[in-house]
Amino acid sequence: MLNIVIFGAPGSGKGTQSERIVNKYGINHISTGDVLRAEIKNGTELGKVAKGYIDQGQLLPDELIIDILASTLDSFKASKGVIFDGFPRTIPQAEALKKMLAERGQEVSTMLDLNVPEEELMRRLINRGLESGRADDNEETIKKRLNVYHTQTSPLIDWYKKEGKYQYIKGYGDMDQILTDICEAIDKVK
Ligand code: AMP
Repeated sequence: MLNIVIFGAPGSGKGTQSERIVNKYGINHISTGDVLRAEIKNGTELGKVAKGYIDQGQLLPDELIIDILASTLDSFKASKGVIFDGFPRTIPQAEALKKMLAERGQEVSTMLDLNVPEEELMRRLINRGLESGRADDNEETIKKRLNVYHTQTSPLIDWYKKEGKYQYIKGYGDMDQILTDICEAIDKVK
């Protein structure tokens, strides 16, 4: 079972690289951001709650997002593994993921940290906002999300280092090289 946490700041390429990993390794993909955007589109109660946080560039409460993750995980039958994209984003979420996988006799195989310089993140997110119209990809909200990343999410780097799961990936430059580096990192733990 291959359980990969794809990690990085907003705009680091987690979604793009996840799609390519899913195709190559035939594992399931959970993007908590995509789950929430689908709820918003469908006008559900959860979507209404989520929108308030997303528009402010803030994280949803841990308990809520952990419940969402658990039910998505349970919906996968006979899975070869999962790539977790955008989760965990806080230490309590990482602890919950560890527990959830342990209850299923599994563990995180590796955490891949897609590292991208801040100016490049800003440039990518502003472009994505212009192209996709994603509501939270505007300059003001991007700044808040990067701040949330630095204060609440980046401590996970040390957390996963202590777990012995951390691998650095250079997340900028040639796209194909990034995928090659990711595959090498995955093949090490397969
Ligand atoms: P993303 O598409 O991963 O950049 O997520 C977009 C937004 O969804 C974030 O800015 C948060 O408001 C919310 N979100 C996604 N994943 C999580 C998570 N693991 N914990 C809390 N909030 C999340």
